[in-house]
Amino acid sequence: MTVHTVAVLGAGLMGRGIAYVSALGGYRTLLQDTSNGALDKAGDEISALLEKGIATGKVKGEDAAAAHKRLSSCKGVEDAVREADLVIEAVPEDIAVKVELFAALDQLAPKHAILASNTSSLSITEMAAATTRPKQVVGMHFFNPVHRMRLLEIVRALETGEETLAAAAMAGERMGKECVVVRESPGFVTSRINAMIGNEAFYMLQEGIASAADIDRALKLGLNHPMGPFELVDLVGLDTRLAILKFLHRTLGEKFRPCPLIEQYVAAGRLGRKSGRGVFDYPAAT
Ligand code: NAD
Repeated sequence: MTVHTVAVLGAGLMGRGIAYVSALGGYRTLLQDTSNGALDKAGDEISALLEKGIATGKVKGEDAAAAHKRLSSCKGVEDAVREADLVIEAVPEDIAVKVELFAALDQLAPKHAILASNTSSLSITEMAAATTRPKQVVGMHFFNPVHRMRLLEIVRALETGEETLAAAAMAGERMGKECVVVRESPGFVTSRINAMIGNEAFYMLQEGIASAADIDRALKLGLNHPMGPFELVDLVGLDTRLAILKFLHRTLGEKFRPCPLIEQYVAAGRLGRKSGRGVFDYPAAT
C-alpha cells in the first residue's frame, strides 16, 4: 500500500510535530483539530520550525517551501480524512475519546486507509475493536519534540496485519524516523523502562542514598543518559508520571508500585516545571 495523503487529527503538542515531519517527508498532509486556536498555534509553530530549519542548515529552502505547500488544516474530521491513505490521531489520552473517534473514522476514511494512534499507553486493540478493519489499525508512537526525536515505536495490536506494519514503518522512515516494532503491552518499550528508572530513582532519593542532583549527575556521566531521571520527570510532570506508574502497577504488577515519595510530591502540588517546583525548583515559572 502506498501512502500519498496523511491526515493528522489533533493539532496539539504532538499533532503539529507529526504534521511537520509528514509534510517534510513528502506527504500531502491535512492537520485537523476541533479548536481554531490550536490550529492557528500549530500553523505558527510549524512555520517557525521550518524557518529555524533553514536558518540552521537542516532544511533546504526549497524543501521547506514544498512542505508548506503540502500542508493544510481544517476543523472538520470528514474533510481531513476523506482522501487519506493514513490517518494518525493525536487527540488527548482518553480511551473513550479515542474509541469514539476510531468508530467515526471507520465510517469516514476510505476503505483502504490505515488508522493509527499516537497513544503513549492505551490499548490499540481496544481502538481497533471499534472499527470493521482491525487489520488496518496500528500504533505509531512518536516522541516529543517530534522533529528532533528519532524513534518511532510501531505498536502491533492483536489483529494488526503485516501489510499495515510495513506501510506504517515506511511512512515513519520517510518522516525521518527509525522504527522499532513492539507487541502491544502496557507502556510499550520506552514508557515502561522510563517509568521503572524514574521510580527507582525516587526510591534512592527516599532512602537518602544520594542527593537528587547527584543521582541525575551519576546517570548522565556514568550511563550516558542525556538527562537525569529527576530533570526528566520535572519536564514530563510528576502527576503524569505517577498516572503511568499506577497504570503499569495495575497491569504489570508489584515491580511498578509507585514510590511513596513521588505520591507525596504530587500531593504537595510539586508537579515539575509546569508548577514551578518538582524535584527541583523553577522560580521563574511561577
Ligand atoms: P495536547 O493536549 O497538546 O493536544 C491534543 C489536541 O487534540 C488539542 O489541540 C485538542 O484541541 C485536540 N482535540 C481534542 N479532541 C479532539 C477531537 N475529537 N478531534 C480532533 N482534535 C481534538 O496533547 P498531546 O500532548 O499532543 O498528546 C496527544 C496524544 O499524543 C496523546 O494520546 C498522548 O498520550 C500522545 N503522546 C504525547 C506525548 C507528549 O510528550 N506530550 C508523547 C508521545 C505521545
